[in-house]
Amino acid sequence: YLDYFETSCRRSKELTTEAKQYIPGGVQHNLAFNYPFPIAIEKAEGAYLWDVDGNRYIDFLQAGGPTVLGSNYAPVREKIFELLKTCGPVTGLFHEYELELAKLVNRLMPSIEMFRMLGSGTESVMAAIRAARVFTGKKFVIKVGGAYHGWSDPMLYGLHVPGTGRFEAKGIPRGASASTQEFFPNSIAALRRHLIFNRLRGGTAAVILEPLGPESGTRPVPFDFNRQVRKLCDEFGALLIFDEVVTGFRVGMGGAQGYFGVEPDLTVFGKCITGGYPMAGGVGGRADVVSTFAAGIGGTGERAYIGGTLSANPLSCAAGYFALQEMERTNAPVIAGRAGDRLTAGLQAIIEKYHLPFVAFNQGSIVHLETSAVMLLDLHNPFKLLKELKPRKHMMEQMGAAYMAEGLITLAGSRMYTSMADTDAVIDDALERFEVVLAS
Ligand code: PMP
Repeated sequence: YLDYFETSCRRSKELTTEAKQYIPGGVQHNLAFNYPFPIAIEKAEGAYLWDVDGNRYIDFLQAGGPTVLGSNYAPVREKIFELLKTCGPVTGLFHEYELELAKLVNRLMPSIEMFRMLGSGTESVMAAIRAARVFTGKKFVIKVGGAYHGWSDPMLYGLHVPGTGRFEAKGIPRGASASTQEFFPNSIAALRRHLIFNRLRGGTAAVILEPLGPESGTRPVPFDFNRQVRKLCDEFGALLIFDEVVTGFRVGMGGAQGYFGVEPDLTVFGKCITGGYPMAGGVGGRADVVSTFAAGIGGTGERAYIGGTLSANPLSCAAGYFALQEMERTNAPVIAGRAGDRLTAGLQAIIEKYHLPFVAFNQGSIVHLETSAVMLLDLHNPFKLLKELKPRKHMMEQMGAAYMAEGLITLAGSRMYTSMADTDAVIDDALERFEVVLAS
Protein backbone atom coordinates (compact mmCIF):
# COMPACT_ATOMS: atom_id res chain seq x y z
CA TYR A 1 0.00 0.00 0.00
CA LEU A 2 2.97 2.36 0.34
CA ASP A 3 3.08 2.46 -3.49
CA TYR A 4 -0.26 4.24 -3.38
CA PHE A 5 1.24 7.24 -1.58
CA GLU A 6 4.27 7.45 -3.88
CA THR A 7 2.28 7.21 -7.10
CA SER A 8 -1.07 8.85 -6.26
CA CYS A 9 -0.23 11.50 -3.66
CA ARG A 10 2.60 13.47 -5.27
CA ARG A 11 1.21 16.96 -4.57
CA SER A 12 0.46 16.05 -0.94
CA LYS A 13 4.04 14.87 -0.57
CA GLU A 14 5.43 18.08 -2.05
CA LEU A 15 3.31 20.32 0.16
CA THR A 16 3.83 18.43 3.38
CA THR A 17 7.56 18.02 2.77
CA GLU A 18 7.86 21.80 2.42
CA ALA A 19 5.63 22.25 5.47
CA LYS A 20 8.19 20.43 7.63
CA GLN A 21 10.48 23.42 7.16
CA TYR A 22 7.93 25.93 8.51
CA ILE A 23 5.58 23.93 10.73
CA PRO A 24 6.91 21.69 13.50
CA GLY A 25 6.57 18.11 12.32
CA GLY A 26 4.81 19.38 9.19
CA VAL A 27 1.35 18.81 10.70
CA GLN A 28 -0.97 20.72 12.99
CA HIS A 29 -3.45 18.03 14.00
CA ASN A 30 -2.90 15.11 16.37
CA LEU A 31 -5.59 13.20 14.53
CA ALA A 32 -4.01 13.54 11.07
CA PHE A 33 -2.03 10.61 9.76
CA ASN A 34 1.64 11.37 9.27
CA TYR A 35 2.61 8.00 7.91
CA PRO A 36 4.18 7.70 5.42
CA PHE A 37 3.40 11.43 5.03
CA PRO A 38 0.28 13.56 5.63
CA ILE A 39 -2.39 14.01 2.97
CA ALA A 40 -3.41 17.57 2.05
CA ILE A 41 -7.18 17.99 1.71
CA GLU A 42 -8.73 20.26 -0.90
CA LYS A 43 -12.45 19.56 -0.84
CA ALA A 44 -15.05 18.25 1.61
CA GLU A 45 -18.68 17.38 0.93
CA GLY A 46 -21.05 15.04 2.74
CA ALA A 47 -19.43 11.66 3.31
CA TYR A 48 -16.35 12.42 1.24
CA LEU A 49 -13.02 14.24 1.27
CA TRP A 50 -10.80 14.87 -1.76
CA ASP A 51 -7.07 15.44 -1.52
CA VAL A 52 -4.99 17.85 -3.59
CA ASP A 53 -4.14 15.03 -6.02
CA GLY A 54 -7.83 14.45 -6.69
CA ASN A 55 -8.17 11.18 -4.73
CA ARG A 56 -11.50 10.65 -3.01
CA TYR A 57 -11.87 9.22 0.50
CA ILE A 58 -14.84 8.12 2.57
CA ASP A 59 -14.43 10.27 5.65
CA PHE A 60 -14.93 8.56 9.00
CA LEU A 61 -12.74 11.06 10.84
CA GLN A 62 -15.47 13.72 10.46
CA ALA A 63 -13.08 16.28 11.92
CA GLY A 64 -12.97 14.30 15.16
CA GLY A 65 -16.73 14.14 15.60
CA PRO A 66 -18.64 17.41 15.18
CA THR A 67 -20.06 17.08 11.66
CA VAL A 68 -23.09 14.88 12.35
CA LEU A 69 -24.80 16.46 9.30
CA GLY A 70 -21.86 15.45 7.08
CA SER A 71 -18.99 17.65 5.92
CA ASN A 72 -19.59 21.14 4.62
CA TYR A 73 -23.37 20.85 4.93
CA ALA A 74 -24.83 23.38 2.49
CA PRO A 75 -27.91 24.75 4.36
CA VAL A 76 -25.78 25.76 7.37
CA ARG A 77 -23.01 27.09 5.15
CA GLU A 78 -25.50 29.33 3.30
CA LYS A 79 -26.81 30.82 6.56
CA ILE A 80 -23.26 31.62 7.60
CA PHE A 81 -22.50 33.26 4.25
CA GLU A 82 -25.49 35.56 4.85
CA LEU A 83 -24.30 36.45 8.33
CA LEU A 84 -20.76 37.15 7.08
CA LYS A 85 -22.10 39.50 4.43
CA THR A 86 -24.00 41.45 7.08
CA CYS A 87 -21.67 41.72 10.04
CA GLY A 88 -18.51 39.72 9.38
CA PRO A 89 -17.14 37.15 11.78
CA VAL A 90 -16.50 39.22 14.89
CA THR A 91 -17.29 42.53 16.56
CA GLY A 92 -16.49 41.90 20.24
CA LEU A 93 -20.03 42.96 21.17
CA PHE A 94 -23.29 41.17 21.87
CA HIS A 95 -25.10 39.51 18.99
CA GLU A 96 -28.61 38.03 18.99
CA TYR A 97 -27.34 34.57 17.99
CA GLU A 98 -25.65 34.24 21.40
CA LEU A 99 -29.07 34.36 23.01
CA GLU A 100 -30.67 32.12 20.39
CA LEU A 101 -27.99 29.47 20.82
CA ALA A 102 -28.17 29.54 24.64
CA LYS A 103 -31.97 29.18 24.50
CA LEU A 104 -31.72 26.29 22.05
CA VAL A 105 -29.11 24.46 24.15
CA ASN A 106 -31.33 24.94 27.21
CA ARG A 107 -34.32 23.42 25.39
CA LEU A 108 -32.29 20.43 24.14
CA MET A 109 -30.51 19.81 27.45
CA PRO A 110 -32.61 21.11 30.33
CA SER A 111 -29.72 20.68 32.85
CA ILE A 112 -28.15 23.64 31.07
CA GLU A 113 -29.99 26.55 32.62
CA MET A 114 -27.28 28.98 31.64
CA PHE A 115 -24.60 28.71 29.00
CA ARG A 116 -21.35 30.52 28.28
CA MET A 117 -19.80 30.15 24.83
CA LEU A 118 -16.02 29.66 24.63
CA GLY A 119 -13.42 28.90 22.00
CA SER A 120 -12.42 25.24 22.51
CA GLY A 121 -13.07 22.13 24.52
CA THR A 122 -9.78 22.52 26.35
CA GLU A 123 -10.56 25.95 27.74
CA SER A 124 -14.17 24.98 28.46
CA VAL A 125 -12.90 22.19 30.72
CA MET A 126 -10.60 24.69 32.42
CA ALA A 127 -13.53 27.07 32.92
CA ALA A 128 -15.82 24.36 34.31
CA ILE A 129 -13.20 23.28 36.83
CA ARG A 130 -12.59 26.86 37.92
CA ALA A 131 -16.31 27.50 38.41
CA ALA A 132 -16.59 24.28 40.42
CA ARG A 133 -13.74 25.34 42.70
CA VAL A 134 -15.12 28.84 43.21
CA PHE A 135 -18.63 27.55 43.84
CA THR A 136 -17.73 24.72 46.23
CA GLY A 137 -14.65 26.28 47.80
CA LYS A 138 -13.05 22.84 47.45
CA LYS A 139 -9.80 21.74 45.88
CA PHE A 140 -9.48 18.37 44.11
CA VAL A 141 -10.69 17.38 40.67
CA ILE A 142 -11.08 13.68 39.94
CA LYS A 143 -10.98 12.30 36.40
CA VAL A 144 -11.10 8.82 34.94
CA GLY A 145 -7.61 7.38 34.44
CA GLY A 146 -6.43 7.70 30.85
CA ALA A 147 -9.23 10.06 29.84
CA TYR A 148 -8.64 13.03 27.53
CA HIS A 149 -10.21 16.35 28.49
CA GLY A 150 -8.06 18.66 26.39
CA TRP A 151 -4.45 19.66 26.89
CA SER A 152 -4.46 22.04 29.85
CA ASP A 153 -1.75 21.32 32.44
CA PRO A 154 -3.91 19.66 35.10
CA MET A 155 -5.92 17.58 32.64
CA LEU A 156 -2.95 15.86 31.00
CA TYR A 157 -2.47 13.97 34.25
CA GLY A 158 -2.69 10.25 33.55
CA LEU A 159 -3.44 10.74 29.86
CA HIS A 160 -4.02 7.55 27.84
CA VAL A 161 -2.58 5.15 30.41
CA PRO A 162 -4.51 4.92 33.65
CA GLY A 163 -2.46 4.47 36.78
CA THR A 164 0.71 6.12 35.52
CA GLY A 165 -0.12 9.64 36.63
CA ARG A 166 2.59 11.71 35.03
CA PHE A 167 2.84 9.94 31.68
CA GLU A 168 2.72 12.48 28.80
CA ALA A 169 3.18 15.26 31.34
CA LYS A 170 6.57 16.64 30.27
CA GLY A 171 6.82 20.39 30.66
CA ILE A 172 4.19 20.50 33.37
CA PRO A 173 5.37 21.52 36.81
CA ARG A 174 4.45 19.08 39.56
CA GLY A 175 2.20 21.62 41.29
CA ALA A 176 0.04 22.16 38.21
CA SER A 177 -1.44 18.68 38.40
CA ALA A 178 -1.13 18.21 42.16
CA SER A 179 -4.86 18.73 42.66
CA THR A 180 -5.85 16.31 39.90
CA GLN A 181 -6.59 12.70 40.77
CA GLU A 182 -7.63 9.75 38.64
CA PHE A 183 -9.54 6.56 39.28
CA PHE A 184 -9.59 3.32 37.32
CA PRO A 185 -12.28 3.35 34.63
CA ASN A 186 -15.65 2.15 35.94
CA SER A 187 -14.42 1.62 39.50
CA ILE A 188 -17.01 3.23 41.74
CA ALA A 189 -15.12 1.85 44.76
CA ALA A 190 -11.92 3.66 43.71
CA LEU A 191 -13.82 6.90 43.18
CA ARG A 192 -15.34 6.60 46.64
CA ARG A 193 -11.86 6.06 48.17
CA HIS A 194 -10.63 9.32 46.60
CA LEU A 195 -13.69 11.22 47.81
CA ILE A 196 -13.19 9.94 51.36
CA PHE A 197 -9.44 10.66 51.27
CA ASN A 198 -10.02 14.21 50.03
CA ARG A 199 -12.63 15.06 52.63
CA LEU A 200 -10.09 16.31 55.19
CA ARG A 201 -7.56 17.59 52.66
CA GLY A 202 -9.43 20.38 50.92
CA GLY A 203 -12.37 18.42 49.56
CA THR A 204 -13.40 17.45 46.03
CA ALA A 205 -14.62 20.30 43.85
CA ALA A 206 -15.64 18.14 40.91
CA VAL A 207 -15.63 14.79 39.21
CA ILE A 208 -15.22 15.10 35.43
CA LEU A 209 -15.92 12.36 32.95
CA GLU A 210 -17.20 11.51 29.51
CA PRO A 211 -20.56 9.85 30.17
CA LEU A 212 -19.99 7.16 27.52
CA GLY A 213 -16.59 6.30 28.99
CA PRO A 214 -13.14 7.71 28.21
CA GLU A 215 -12.03 8.43 24.63
CA SER A 216 -15.62 8.75 23.39
CA GLY A 217 -16.62 5.40 24.85
CA THR A 218 -13.57 3.41 23.77
CA ARG A 219 -13.84 1.87 27.25
CA PRO A 220 -17.60 1.80 27.68
CA VAL A 221 -19.40 2.28 30.99
CA PRO A 222 -22.06 -0.01 32.48
CA PHE A 223 -25.47 1.59 32.01
CA ASP A 224 -25.87 2.51 35.69
CA PHE A 225 -22.37 3.99 36.10
CA ASN A 226 -23.24 7.67 35.63
CA ARG A 227 -26.14 7.44 38.06
CA GLN A 228 -23.83 5.93 40.68
CA VAL A 229 -21.28 8.71 40.15
CA ARG A 230 -24.08 11.29 40.45
CA LYS A 231 -25.10 9.79 43.81
CA LEU A 232 -21.51 9.78 45.10
CA CYS A 233 -21.00 13.42 44.06
CA ASP A 234 -24.16 14.40 45.95
CA GLU A 235 -23.04 12.45 49.01
CA PHE A 236 -19.68 14.26 49.12
CA GLY A 237 -20.81 17.69 47.92
CA ALA A 238 -18.73 17.53 44.73
CA LEU A 239 -20.01 18.82 41.40
CA LEU A 240 -20.45 16.44 38.48
CA ILE A 241 -19.07 17.69 35.16
CA PHE A 242 -19.95 15.87 31.96
CA ASP A 243 -17.51 16.33 29.10
CA GLU A 244 -19.84 16.21 26.10
CA VAL A 245 -17.27 17.60 23.65
CA VAL A 246 -17.87 14.64 21.34
CA THR A 247 -21.09 13.08 22.63
CA GLY A 248 -22.95 16.43 22.82
CA PHE A 249 -25.40 16.30 19.96
CA ARG A 250 -24.00 13.15 18.38
CA VAL A 251 -25.41 10.52 20.74
CA GLY A 252 -28.74 12.33 20.44
CA MET A 253 -29.99 15.91 20.59
CA GLY A 254 -30.13 15.55 24.38
CA GLY A 255 -26.52 14.35 24.50
CA ALA A 256 -25.24 11.42 26.54
CA GLN A 257 -26.94 12.95 29.59
CA GLY A 258 -30.29 12.54 27.83
CA TYR A 259 -29.44 8.97 26.87
CA PHE A 260 -28.51 7.95 30.42
CA GLY A 261 -31.10 10.18 32.09
CA VAL A 262 -28.52 11.66 34.46
CA GLU A 263 -28.22 15.43 34.99
CA PRO A 264 -24.73 16.80 35.61
CA ASP A 265 -24.14 20.10 37.40
CA LEU A 266 -22.02 21.35 34.52
CA THR A 267 -21.60 20.27 30.91
CA VAL A 268 -18.60 21.06 28.76
CA PHE A 269 -18.83 21.41 24.98
CA GLY A 270 -16.26 21.76 22.23
CA LYS A 271 -16.35 21.20 18.50
CA CYS A 272 -19.90 19.77 18.57
CA ILE A 273 -21.49 23.04 19.70
CA THR A 274 -20.93 24.70 16.30
CA GLY A 275 -21.28 21.60 14.13
CA GLY A 276 -17.59 21.92 13.35
CA TYR A 277 -17.21 25.66 12.69
CA PRO A 278 -14.24 27.34 14.41
CA MET A 279 -14.08 28.78 17.93
CA ALA A 280 -16.22 26.04 19.34
CA GLY A 281 -16.65 25.46 23.04
CA GLY A 282 -18.81 26.28 26.00
CA VAL A 283 -19.79 25.56 29.56
CA GLY A 284 -23.34 25.30 30.77
CA GLY A 285 -25.29 24.01 33.70
CA ARG A 286 -26.84 25.05 36.98
CA ALA A 287 -27.55 28.78 37.01
CA ASP A 288 -26.03 29.23 40.48
CA VAL A 289 -22.75 27.60 39.42
CA VAL A 290 -22.45 29.16 35.97
CA SER A 291 -23.25 32.57 37.45
CA THR A 292 -19.82 32.55 39.12
CA PHE A 293 -18.47 33.61 35.70
CA ALA A 294 -20.34 36.89 36.10
CA ALA A 295 -19.98 37.38 39.85
CA GLY A 296 -18.70 40.84 40.60
CA ILE A 297 -19.92 41.98 37.16
CA GLY A 298 -23.65 41.39 37.33
CA GLY A 299 -23.85 39.58 40.63
CA THR A 300 -22.03 39.45 43.91
CA GLY A 301 -19.50 37.06 45.40
CA GLU A 302 -16.31 35.55 44.04
CA ARG A 303 -15.78 35.43 40.34
CA ALA A 304 -14.46 32.50 38.31
CA TYR A 305 -12.52 34.48 35.73
CA ILE A 306 -12.83 33.55 32.08
CA GLY A 307 -12.15 35.45 28.87
CA GLY A 308 -11.60 34.98 25.15
CA THR A 309 -11.52 37.78 22.55
CA LEU A 310 -12.99 35.69 19.75
CA SER A 311 -15.24 33.52 21.92
CA ALA A 312 -18.99 33.81 21.32
CA ASN A 313 -18.42 35.57 18.00
CA PRO A 314 -21.44 35.85 15.69
CA LEU A 315 -20.07 33.28 13.23
CA SER A 316 -19.66 30.53 15.85
CA CYS A 317 -22.96 31.26 17.56
CA ALA A 318 -24.89 31.36 14.28
CA ALA A 319 -23.15 28.17 13.15
CA GLY A 320 -24.19 26.45 16.38
CA TYR A 321 -27.72 27.76 16.21
CA PHE A 322 -28.29 26.68 12.61
CA ALA A 323 -26.38 23.39 12.83
CA LEU A 324 -28.26 22.23 15.95
CA GLN A 325 -31.60 23.27 14.44
CA GLU A 326 -30.84 21.35 11.25
CA MET A 327 -29.68 18.32 13.23
CA GLU A 328 -32.93 18.30 15.16
CA ARG A 329 -35.09 18.89 12.07
CA THR A 330 -33.42 16.15 10.03
CA ASN A 331 -33.03 13.67 12.90
CA ALA A 332 -29.32 13.56 12.03
CA PRO A 333 -28.07 11.80 15.21
CA VAL A 334 -30.47 8.89 14.65
CA ILE A 335 -29.68 8.58 10.92
CA ALA A 336 -25.93 8.76 11.64
CA GLY A 337 -26.47 6.20 14.40
CA ARG A 338 -28.07 3.74 11.98
CA ALA A 339 -25.07 4.13 9.69
CA GLY A 340 -22.87 3.38 12.71
CA ASP A 341 -24.86 0.22 13.44
CA ARG A 342 -24.49 -0.94 9.85
CA LEU A 343 -20.75 -0.22 9.78
CA THR A 344 -20.21 -2.03 13.11
CA ALA A 345 -22.19 -5.12 12.09
CA GLY A 346 -20.22 -5.26 8.83
CA LEU A 347 -16.86 -4.89 10.58
CA GLN A 348 -17.77 -7.56 13.10
CA ALA A 349 -18.73 -9.92 10.25
CA ILE A 350 -15.31 -9.33 8.62
CA ILE A 351 -13.56 -9.94 11.96
CA GLU A 352 -15.37 -13.26 12.35
CA LYS A 353 -14.84 -14.29 8.73
CA TYR A 354 -11.05 -13.91 9.06
CA HIS A 355 -10.84 -14.97 12.73
CA LEU A 356 -9.14 -11.72 13.72
CA PRO A 357 -8.40 -11.02 17.41
CA PHE A 358 -10.29 -7.72 17.11
CA VAL A 359 -13.62 -6.40 18.27
CA ALA A 360 -15.99 -3.83 16.73
CA PHE A 361 -18.61 -2.06 18.81
CA ASN A 362 -20.49 1.22 18.67
CA GLN A 363 -22.59 3.73 20.53
CA GLY A 364 -24.72 4.97 17.64
CA SER A 365 -22.55 6.99 15.29
CA ILE A 366 -19.36 6.38 17.31
CA VAL A 367 -17.77 3.18 16.04
CA HIS A 368 -14.76 1.51 17.65
CA LEU A 369 -12.51 -1.08 16.07
CA GLU A 370 -10.26 -2.36 18.84
CA THR A 371 -7.30 -4.30 17.57
CA SER A 372 -5.76 -5.07 20.93
CA ALA A 373 -7.71 -7.07 23.48
CA VAL A 374 -5.23 -5.99 26.16
CA MET A 375 -6.32 -2.38 25.78
CA LEU A 376 -9.83 -3.40 26.75
CA LEU A 377 -9.25 -6.01 29.37
CA ASP A 378 -6.16 -5.20 31.38
CA LEU A 379 -6.83 -1.70 32.63
CA HIS A 380 -5.54 -2.61 36.06
CA ASN A 381 -2.03 -3.33 34.84
CA PRO A 382 -0.65 -0.04 33.48
CA PHE A 383 2.85 -1.43 32.95
CA LYS A 384 1.57 -4.16 30.69
CA LEU A 385 -0.43 -1.47 28.92
CA LEU A 386 2.68 0.64 28.45
CA LYS A 387 4.50 -2.33 26.92
CA GLU A 388 1.54 -2.92 24.65
CA LEU A 389 1.22 0.68 23.50
CA LYS A 390 4.34 0.92 21.35
CA PRO A 391 3.74 -2.02 19.02
CA ARG A 392 0.08 -1.05 18.94
CA LYS A 393 0.92 2.49 17.84
CA HIS A 394 3.10 1.13 15.05
CA MET A 395 0.43 -1.31 13.96
CA MET A 396 -2.29 1.37 14.01
CA GLU A 397 -0.07 3.64 11.92
CA GLN A 398 0.35 0.91 9.31
CA MET A 399 -3.32 0.08 9.33
CA GLY A 400 -4.32 3.73 9.10
CA ALA A 401 -2.12 4.14 6.04
CA ALA A 402 -3.49 0.94 4.50
CA TYR A 403 -7.07 2.14 5.02
CA MET A 404 -6.15 5.42 3.40
CA ALA A 405 -4.69 3.65 0.36
CA GLU A 406 -8.12 1.96 0.08
CA GLY A 407 -9.88 5.33 0.21
CA LEU A 408 -10.89 5.36 3.89
CA ILE A 409 -10.05 7.98 6.50
CA THR A 410 -10.42 6.89 10.13
CA LEU A 411 -9.44 8.31 13.51
CA ALA A 412 -6.14 6.65 14.35
CA GLY A 413 -7.25 3.50 12.53
CA SER A 414 -9.44 2.52 15.45
CA ARG A 415 -12.39 4.90 15.63
CA MET A 416 -14.95 5.96 13.04
CA TYR A 417 -17.58 8.68 13.26
CA THR A 418 -20.52 8.29 10.92
CA SER A 419 -22.72 11.15 9.73
CA MET A 420 -26.13 11.71 8.20
CA ALA A 421 -24.43 11.61 4.78
CA ASP A 422 -23.44 7.94 5.23
CA THR A 423 -26.12 6.16 3.22
CA ASP A 424 -26.30 2.36 3.09
CA ALA A 425 -24.44 2.51 -0.23
CA VAL A 426 -21.59 4.54 1.32
CA ILE A 427 -21.28 2.13 4.26
CA ASP A 428 -21.36 -0.96 2.03
CA ASP A 429 -18.70 0.55 -0.21
CA ALA A 430 -16.60 1.32 2.89
CA LEU A 431 -16.98 -2.23 4.20
CA GLU A 432 -15.62 -3.67 0.95
CA ARG A 433 -12.59 -1.43 1.38
CA PHE A 434 -12.17 -2.35 5.04
CA GLU A 435 -12.27 -6.02 4.07
CA VAL A 436 -9.38 -5.60 1.63
CA VAL A 437 -7.18 -4.28 4.46
CA LEU A 438 -8.38 -6.56 7.23
CA ALA A 439 -8.12 -9.67 5.02
CA SER A 440 -4.46 -8.92 4.42
N1 PMP B 1 -12.68 16.60 25.75
C1 PMP B 1 -12.87 15.59 24.88
C2 PMP B 1 -13.65 14.39 25.31
C3 PMP B 1 -12.34 15.66 23.57
O1 PMP B 1 -12.53 14.66 22.72
C4 PMP B 1 -11.61 16.82 23.21
C5 PMP B 1 -11.03 17.00 21.82
N2 PMP B 1 -10.97 15.90 21.03
C6 PMP B 1 -11.44 17.84 24.15
C7 PMP B 1 -11.99 17.71 25.40
C8 PMP B 1 -10.67 19.08 23.81
O2 PMP B 1 -11.35 19.89 22.92
P1 PMP B 1 -10.56 20.93 21.97
O3 PMP B 1 -9.78 20.10 21.01
O4 PMP B 1 -11.64 21.74 21.32
O5 PMP B 1 -9.70 21.75 22.86
